[in-house]
Amino acid sequence: MSYHNISHQELQIDNLGEKRFPSPGWQRNFSPEGTGWHTDGDRILLCDHTTIVEKAIAAGEPLPSIELAGPRKEIFFNPSQTCVAVVTCGGLCPGLNDVIRTIVMQSYYAYGVRRILGIQYGYEGLDPAFGHRPLELTPEMVMNLPYFGGTFLGSSRGRKDTKVMVNRLEALGVNILFVIGGDGSQRGATDLYEECQSRGNGISVIGVPKTIDNDLMFMDRSFGYQTAFAAACHAVTGAHAEARGARNGIGLVKLMGRDSGFIACSSALATGEVNFVLVPEVEFELDGEHGFLAALDRRLEQRGHAVIVVAEGAGQDLIPVSDARLDASGNKLHEDIGVFLKDRINAYFKNQGKEATLKYIDPSYTIRSGPAAPEDRVFCLNLARHAVHAGMAGKTGMVVARWHQRFVHLPMKVVTRGRKKVDPNGDFWRSVVEATGQPSVMRA
Ligand code: ATP
Ligand code: MG
Repeated sequence: MSYHNISHQELQIDNLGEKRFPSPGWQRNFSPEGTGWHTDGDRILLCDHTTIVEKAIAAGEPLPSIELAGPRKEIFFNPSQTCVAVVTCGGLCPGLNDVIRTIVMQSYYAYGVRRILGIQYGYEGLDPAFGHRPLELTPEMVMNLPYFGGTFLGSSRGRKDTKVMVNRLEALGVNILFVIGGDGSQRGATDLYEECQSRGNGISVIGVPKTIDNDLMFMDRSFGYQTAFAAACHAVTGAHAEARGARNGIGLVKLMGRDSGFIACSSALATGEVNFVLVPEVEFELDGEHGFLAALDRRLEQRGHAVIVVAEGAGQDLIPVSDARLDASGNKLHEDIGVFLKDRINAYFKNQGKEATLKYIDPSYTIRSGPAAPEDRVFCLNLARHAVHAGMAGKTGMVVARWHQRFVHLPMKVVTRGRKKVDPNGDFWRSVVEATGQPSVMRA
């Protein structure tokens, strides 16, 4: 059976070797019958759609399934001899400090690990040429981190040489590396994992996936997303007040969403104040009687004000660009759709000889740099706990995630293979069209 073209074999998690040490948690007599303990054989189905499952059973094909996260009764690493390291890479996202904190706390208190290194400024910190020294982390140092946004360890973009970084891990005596970062970071972590495997150096590489846009495959949600979208709602409400406060008032809010428009859609659904949602997954045109500008004009005629939410990756095909720009990691930089739309909307109404007052709000950096909301904090805590359980059990080349409400282990390669997107033909997008009243198609 194939679901998103993933085979059962591709979902297998690599293990460094035999688990020879009793888990300290097991020794502390947590009930052996409790549901918290799992073996590597405890798995859940990747796809729970009965039609697909029944078809696969009838065809005698193996059902793709995923390993459950959780403590193992025996572990691979001897805690008192183990050194763990943690690094944060890519852009900021609420909850990074929560994950750092719990990796330290869990390693220290639940397993008794005493050497915990904080790699500074992303993968740069693993390249000696940059001169960043690792921090020796203690519970006292990280205790209060979640009160602050950002990342305590610093972050960076830009490719670094995999062999140089693995040399550094070996020289530091690191046994488990935790990589907190997005798709690029997890691709980098996959390179590190493969290099460690080919050297047979026994280093485990475990990822904690970070994406504020909630766009990673096979994950119910990603940390920081709930915080971001709650904060985005404040910006939308502000834009609504601005729009209502002026004759023909227009509130335009640009939100995160480079490839997927989940934050833009969710903030529209939650506030009930948005009239147009523009996302990367749904193409639209500006001009013509079916275009966005004419629809906006009609809305102003009817109601005297309008609120627009645009995801940063929306409408890129509309902006004339001479050369594609790339960031340090080689990601294509988007042109600023917010400023572009603002100018085009103003020009449109000026040409029509109509008065309109547009207020443009771009809260992106304020949102991504803030601390996590309580529900995200709990989520970060659990991701980090499970990352430490997985690392101590000798798992490698995997990330922790939540799928169908359970914490699971997924191979890094599977997670970075594609992106989760808003389906223009799905019920989520339909809910947005229904809740906003925007035309379902805004092009000829
Ligand atoms: P964000 O969500 O902020 O984009 P990200 O983890 O994707 O997070 P990037 O800047 O793309 O952020 O990558 C972070 C780190 O991972 C960088 O140091 C980068 O060099 C490395 N990286 C990115 N893409 C790859 C790749 N294809 N292979 C190996 N390493 C990569
Ligand atoms: Mg990325």
